[in-house]
Amino acid sequence: MDTVSHGLWGSFVFGRKRRRSFLLAFFFGVAPDLFSFGPFFAGSLFGLFIRPPFSANPPPESAIPSFVHLLYRPTHSLIIFAAIFLIIYLVRGKPLWEMSAWVLHIVYDIPLHTEHFFPTPFLWPISSYTVDGWNWGNPWIFFPNITLLALLYAGLLVRRRRHVTRDI
Ligand SMILES: [Zn+2]
Repeated sequence: MDTVSHGLWGSFVFGRKRRRSFLLAFFFGVAPDLFSFGPFFAGSLFGLFIRPPFSANPPPESAIPSFVHLLYRPTHSLIIFAAIFLIIYLVRGKPLWEMSAWVLHIVYDIPLHTEHFFPTPFLWPISSYTVDGWNWGNPWIFFPNITLLALLYAGLLVRRRRHVTRDI
């Protein structure tokens, strides 16, 4: 799934109540891609890396630098998520529920990546097992996802506007 959709799903499910929660859940929703592909995309803007063309079909994995592959494992692992969630829980004395957007990102990625392009290493470092799913760039997945998100957010705006009018 595209990174922005990950963020919007995270905010919708875990950050609808308050603006701070919305932004925090959006951050955790995009974080796995931000901290794996982010440095590569940022570096390619400055000419540090050659960015292969991303179209409906992803480029070969070999066209992506090895550090992205390394960063992709911890950022897309449910085990690493659980460890960091626990640490933050212990430090704060209460869970940071907006972090769950990170789990949602991984759960969406598991069936939406093929084994040819960054299958989700959700059990890393215990197991290298991955699922050979579907490519999220496929129009049959991409457009229904965007449509569903647009409908959900439109519903949210309508409901919020009704609340505001009732409060006046
Ligand atoms: Zn991802």
